[in-house]
Amino acid sequence: MTEANLRERMAAYGRSLFARGYGCGTSGNLSARLADGGFLLSPTNASLGDLQADHLTRLDAEGRYLAGPAATKEAWLHLAVYRVRSDIHAVVHLHSTYGVALSCLSDRDPADVLPPVTPYEVMRFGVVALVPYRRPGDDSAVGEIEALARNHRAILLANHGPVVWGPDLSTAMAAAEELEEAAKRAFILQGHPHHRLTAAQTRELRDVFGV
Ligand code: ZN
Repeated sequence: MTEANLRERMAAYGRSLFARGYGCGTSGNLSARLADGGFLLSPTNASLGDLQADHLTRLDAEGRYLAGPAATKEAWLHLAVYRVRSDIHAVVHLHSTYGVALSCLSDRDPADVLPPVTPYEVMRFGVVALVPYRRPGDDSAVGEIEALARNHRAILLANHGPVVWGPDLSTAMAAAEELEEAAKRAFILQGHPHHRLTAAQTRELRDVFGV
């Protein structure tokens, strides 16, 4: 995909996420890796609702600023994932309602915050780990995020929100949307006896679908 195409795609995805209630104000950010190894990011203080193809931050392959508006102060989050995963070309970070609410619960296993209840949760994002709270702009979790990125497809930042990645923008988007729905289901099911997928059922999905 050319840079121009990717810019159009990112802007359209951002506006679509906002229109469907996955963000409010200037929360959330998207990024994508370009063919030359550099990155496009949604800029700081920008609403995903009016993301424009010609108003995105451009970074080089080392994550240094090249052109466009100033980068989001959450750029380090995205770069931590890309640094350890050459197969990942898109990262989606949201402050979506149920994902954020789930990130505030105190009774969850931090290694597995969202045990799967449907096959698509396993197929789209798998095991979700919780990263302990940091104030906005504090990048001291970079090592933890790099470590988790090696063998996860999504994490939840405590009292903050989800970060989801994928081999391309549409896959990362679909995973982020599925995670938000899964978080919503977790709240709907809370207090109701229900079946989670068993370890064997989860393993079968991994084997059959290669996730
Ligand atoms: Zn955030």
